[in-house]
Amino acid sequence: MNITLVRGDITEQRADAIVNAANSSLMGGGGVDGAIHRRGGPEILEECRKLRASRYGKGLPTGQAVATTAGRLAARWVIHTVGPVHAKSEDRSGLLASCYRESLLVADSLGAASVAFPAISTGIYGWPMDDAARIALDAVRQSGTVVQDVRFVLFDADAYAIFEARLS
Ligand code: ADP
Repeated sequence: MNITLVRGDITEQRADAIVNAANSSLMGGGGVDGAIHRRGGPEILEECRKLRASRYGKGLPTGQAVATTAGRLAARWVIHTVGPVHAKSEDRSGLLASCYRESLLVADSLGAASVAFPAISTGIYGWPMDDAARIALDAVRQSGTVVQDVRFVLFDADAYAIFEARLS
């Protein structure tokens, strides 16, 4: 497995699967989630609605992952995963690691060779970037996935530098 870092917008990535830092409603939101639905088009939301009606009536639980079409994105699938909100009073790092692990399990089951991740939970959900980078990289390395190209797409220079320091 190759882990690479890219600075930029995840919706512009060409990959078999793009991971969305969704919320449990699967009905869209801000940040990466909003950008993916805007650029990917209504087909993604339509499949999310069906998933809500069939398998996830109470929402997608934190730490789990599920795939839909990628609509108009340059990818075959969007894998939606729900990151934990960062909490100082409680250690939720297992749930954050689970997002990466479960997303890669879904990717493996789809036969995806390349997967692009955002820095899950580091936006609205408030996870400190350095700690999130450590958890993300450990989880991917320990996953046992057969995905060949795992890419982290970092939105700004600070996030990129933090991941770079952790990767080396
Ligand atoms: P969460 O709710 O899991 O915290 P956010 O979408 O708020 O998710 O943010 C997760 C990370 O994704 C943040 O570091 C944010 O800067 C970054 N981000 C926001 N938009 C994009 C984008 N289009 N491509 C890649 N990363 C993005």
